[in-house]
Amino acid sequence: MNKVRRCVLGHDISYSLSPVMHAAIYKVTGEDGEYTVEDIAPDSLEREFARLMREYDGFNVTKPHKEHVARLLGLTGSVNTVKNDGRATTTDPVGFIEDYRHELGEPQGNVLVLGAGGAAMPLIELLCSLPDTKVYVYNRTYERAKQAEKYGAKAAESAAGKYDCVINCTSLGLCGEQAAPPSLDFTGVGCAYDLVYSPALTPFMSKAREAGVKVVGGMGMLVRQAIASHEFWRGEKFDPELRERIYIAARDAVEKEIRRKS
Ligand code: NAP
Repeated sequence: MNKVRRCVLGHDISYSLSPVMHAAIYKVTGEDGEYTVEDIAPDSLEREFARLMREYDGFNVTKPHKEHVARLLGLTGSVNTVKNDGRATTTDPVGFIEDYRHELGEPQGNVLVLGAGGAAMPLIELLCSLPDTKVYVYNRTYERAKQAEKYGAKAAESAAGKYDCVINCTSLGLCGEQAAPPSLDFTGVGCAYDLVYSPALTPFMSKAREAGVKVVGGMGMLVRQAIASHEFWRGEKFDPELRERIYIAARDAVEKEIRRKS
């Protein structure tokens, strides 16, 4: 059997942890695979796309190509996982909800989502589809939060309010600005989730913890969406025991790589 070739397609992604994470996944699944980085500028993507589909069995897609790749495949929205037969999906929502349920239980009540970017939108759609949630979206650019209303969410003009859960889908605090919107009061918030996975304790998480709120970072989501990508490429689900072993190995490998780089 030939070696399986996969990669992550993005731009300015020299920091990517994906090769290390996917190497750890191959090790546990026993698949003879390689996973590399394809750094392609936006204006070259269309020209390079046929080569990528020819050279790779499948690939992940990250910033800034998620929407563009969907369009090239004749799809709407965004994708993060592509198979060379032309099928594609986005595994971020699966990774998020699996990790959320594992760490915090079922999302319930009033949920505030911070951010309305590429990562936030599929999560908002998913959260709105759950039976016991009412989803509010607060974003620096209000017009983008309004776009989330098509899923049944409500755009909020400030982050003030009583929320059972707050989910951070921005990189707030990582570039020196406030760790959370000043209008957000963590008092009374039941739990919080930060999509950011590095550093392990983000400014948003610190702020939530200071207020006594149980908060989880995005590492689990990162690893679970990667496992879901492998399931999509292979066309089969891993059994739960193997899945757990893959999860632990991949998470440990990523955490080790972050420590090595810091
Ligand atoms: P994106 O499409 O660029 O969206 C960024 C979002 O953050 C927008 O809502 C933007 O608001 C907001 N934002 C950025 N800087 C801000 C600031 N200084 N103040 C207030 N709001 C600010 O990025 P993305 O792909 O959605 O990713 C968002 C975060 O999620 C990133 O940190 C990424 O690493 C993380 N992520 C994690 C996972 C995982 O597996 N754990 C997966 C995907 C993404 P505007 O609309 O006003 O610009």
